[in-house]
Amino acid sequence: MQTIEFTGKLTESDTKRHLSHVFTVPEGVQSITIELTHAPHKAPGQPYPNQVSLSLFDSNGSRGARHNNPDQSIRLTHHTASKGYLPGTLLPGEWDVVLDTHRILGDDFTYTITVTLSEEEVPDDAPIDHTPGTTVDRGPGWYRGDLHSHTNHTDGKLDVAELAQYARDFKLDFLALTDHNTVSPLAEFYSYANDDLVTIGGMELTTYYGHCLALGTSEWQEWRLVKGLTMPDLAQRIMDSGAFYVIAHPRSIGDPRCTGCRWEFDDMMPGNAPAVEVWNGLWNERNAEGVALFYEWLNAGHRMVCTAGTDLHAYPRGNIRGAAVNVVYAEHYSAEGILAGLRKGNSYLSAGPMIEMKLSDENGNVARIGDTLPGSNVSYNITVSEFEPGDTLRVIADGTVVETITPDGSHSMSGRYAPNRWMTFEVHDKAGDMRLITNPVFVNRS
Ligand SMILES: [Zn+2]
Ligand SMILES: [Zn+2]
Repeated sequence: MQTIEFTGKLTESDTKRHLSHVFTVPEGVQSITIELTHAPHKAPGQPYPNQVSLSLFDSNGSRGARHNNPDQSIRLTHHTASKGYLPGTLLPGEWDVVLDTHRILGDDFTYTITVTLSEEEVPDDAPIDHTPGTTVDRGPGWYRGDLHSHTNHTDGKLDVAELAQYARDFKLDFLALTDHNTVSPLAEFYSYANDDLVTIGGMELTTYYGHCLALGTSEWQEWRLVKGLTMPDLAQRIMDSGAFYVIAHPRSIGDPRCTGCRWEFDDMMPGNAPAVEVWNGLWNERNAEGVALFYEWLNAGHRMVCTAGTDLHAYPRGNIRGAAVNVVYAEHYSAEGILAGLRKGNSYLSAGPMIEMKLSDENGNVARIGDTLPGSNVSYNITVSEFEPGDTLRVIADGTVVETITPDGSHSMSGRYAPNRWMTFEVHDKAGDMRLITNPVFVNRS
């Protein structure tokens, strides 16, 4: 048995750092235990508690993190791991336990990290079998799902099985699990895929200056701006790996209340981002600002798509009216199929209504939402179901509301506009809250 202790004293200026604590794991180690203690929980006179978490790396790369969870103790054997961390061979060599200082308020913060390496055999240390479930491809169609959720591997309340149950209870066709800075729940998550549920692996890069989603990955993604990396670099790495990159809740409340939650990357407005989550959780003013930002970026000539996500951290209680699903046209009912539809923007976000659209240009070319019409005039014919009394349809061209329609009994509407670049359609309830927003259809002008 070997015990290594690291201690430190930090001040407010140490906020948003990644503090390395390197130790060596010799041959023959059967278990690693790491304990973190820190004080004070909240400095006198400060409005918010200090927030730190541990990220663990072996000589091969990330072994996980448990972001924003009060339990920061880690235990690894060759086959088991605490929530947030990956089981697997305890590789001999240099390991690093990193203290991520998301928020330090006050100038008297102390911490101790105690690492214990044990060569004692661990009884019953057997591999856990998570056989991935399979889904029969139903072929082309419109599929509904949630692209942003969390479990107790980070700061969520649900375990992975309960999260899968949420997807079944709400009749979702697909669900993405995007825990903060770790992919540790994904092996179990994939075991819940079946003919009625496509599971999409992911990770929420929970940086100090904004959050973003990597969707369609089982691999840990570097989320830190270390070794000269910029956010555009991190995004490019994610896209090069084949995953889909989404800026999350860009207009969220930020520091110090929700530290790092607001998008503050000046070199990524939107930079190389192909997508932005404009509807996070229940509809609110910050989401409205997200839509305005999305429209601003479209007007600046960025071809992007928008997404929604509940950002679920606990089982939804009662009515979740106001949260949106992504309704995606996919050629295949599979994770790859859903992601391909999302990439093309063949999707809309809805808190209830369903929309059927026929879009064409003056030359008779037809398009799906998200596509580009070769001509410059967009003729639309729209049928909205689940319309409620007081709901209105807004027709948006280049970010401007060009028409507000209160539908008649048939709930079918048609018209023709000549936007410079793009058009979207929104449904609002009588209080003005968003009930549905489509991705843009683009025209070939400019
Ligand atoms: Zn977030
Ligand atoms: Zn989240």
